[in-house]
Amino acid sequence: MYSVTDPATGELVEEIPNATDDEVRAAIGRVHGGYQAWRRRPVTERAAIVLRAAELFAERADELAAIMTLEMGKRINEGRGEVGVVVDIFRYYGERGPDLLADEPLPIRGGEAVLTKEPIGALLGVMPWNFPCYQVARFVAPNLVLGNTILLKHASICPRSAAAIERVLRDAGVPEDAYVNVFASSRQVPWMLADPRIQGVSLTGSEQAGISVAAEAGRNLKKCVLELGGSDPLIVLDTDDLDETVKVTATARMRNCGQSCNAPKRMIVLGELYDEFVDRLAKRVTEYFVPGDPADPATTLPPLASIAAADEVAAQVETAIREGATLRAGGHRVPGPGAFLEATVLTDVTPEMAAYHEEIFGPVALVFRAETEEEAIALANDTPFGLGASVFGTDRTRATRVARSIEAGMVYLNKSGGSEADLPFGGIKRSGIGRELGPLGIEEFMNKKPIRL
Ligand code: NAP
Repeated sequence: MYSVTDPATGELVEEIPNATDDEVRAAIGRVHGGYQAWRRRPVTERAAIVLRAAELFAERADELAAIMTLEMGKRINEGRGEVGVVVDIFRYYGERGPDLLADEPLPIRGGEAVLTKEPIGALLGVMPWNFPCYQVARFVAPNLVLGNTILLKHASICPRSAAAIERVLRDAGVPEDAYVNVFASSRQVPWMLADPRIQGVSLTGSEQAGISVAAEAGRNLKKCVLELGGSDPLIVLDTDDLDETVKVTATARMRNCGQSCNAPKRMIVLGELYDEFVDRLAKRVTEYFVPGDPADPATTLPPLASIAAADEVAAQVETAIREGATLRAGGHRVPGPGAFLEATVLTDVTPEMAAYHEEIFGPVALVFRAETEEEAIALANDTPFGLGASVFGTDRTRATRVARSIEAGMVYLNKSGGSEADLPFGGIKRSGIGRELGPLGIEEFMNKKPIRL
């Protein structure tokens, strides 16, 4: 069942039954049937449609933001900001796509060859609720320009976002058989993936979903891209403005109510700064991030996406405290019907505790103390995940040296997280396989086919 439940009130707004197996098979048939016509259209036509989609996303930013606020509790201003990034992604691939797809001469020893860049067919996208528009954009914009067709299974709590995105694409001129939204259940995904008419899958979501989809993709010899969880470190080597560093850290951690895969989740602060950093971070999150109505632009901390999500994060915090962590701020569910949790800071988390190894997908910052640069790097890398990382420091050479030592898919210096259309995004280790965005993001489902002349 797909359903809309307002996380600010707990009220059930709408339920939509899952598509039947026959409906799912018909949807696969549509994107498979539409592939040849879509791939044969000139790339400039596909790019123009993607550019038109960028314009429509911009026009409908308020509508899309309101849907996200209702479905998963995103702050209304953050929703508008998310749509702004979506616009940028569609613009980037609409403008740059034709160049990125141009043939490349291949220097070979015995003659001439050219590398052509072709699509591979109908793809399945399985997307999460935390950035309902942005996650879809990362997968869809490059693949539509490339000439692949797309069947999209969105998160079961985001049916209205899913439908609104499909409307934008349709109105922009994407044919009815080049992009199809289907209200499939996660139980239908394995056989959808096994269907010979589907050539690949991109999943953004949890580790468990990634394992299941990767296993099925492997069994069926299908290409997969996985964008999974993270427990990103943020290392503070030194700073000439501690208040600003704390402010940036708190904002990055609390963005989207802490439900960002690449939010900094483990702050690692060098010895002499540690005590002051923790005090100021605890003060900042308590005073600034106050739970409130996500539809009110003045609100700083919205609810989590669901009551279940809030309960789960609260339980992770409780377990950490029971196992010996120190609570420095927040830590409690807010009484009432909504999915609210106070902005929380924990310290003294050790490798014996679950919180040291898990992803905490909510407004909870862990702060660790390191005595040396080497210890900070070792702590940063002591995680099963490898999505992103941040390094703060006044000496760029030193910060870059630390950045190079971190096992992650991407590192930011003196800033944290975020996403840019032209900057590749993705993880290593248990954070996933493959890259989205930038020039690399259009290559994942590409047939790089040399033609020997
Ligand atoms: P999720 O439960 O894994 O759901 C993501 C999508 O996968 C949903 O459409 C879900 O469908 C589907 N799904 C769940 N289990 C499945 C299975 N066994 N087989 C096939 N599909 C399955 O993840 P979430 O809780 O929505 O999202 C949070 C997670 O996503 C976090 O771990 C976060 O770090 C990660 N994430 C990663 C990135 C990245 O770029 N690396 C970005 C954003 C989020 P239903 O809704 O129908 O269950």
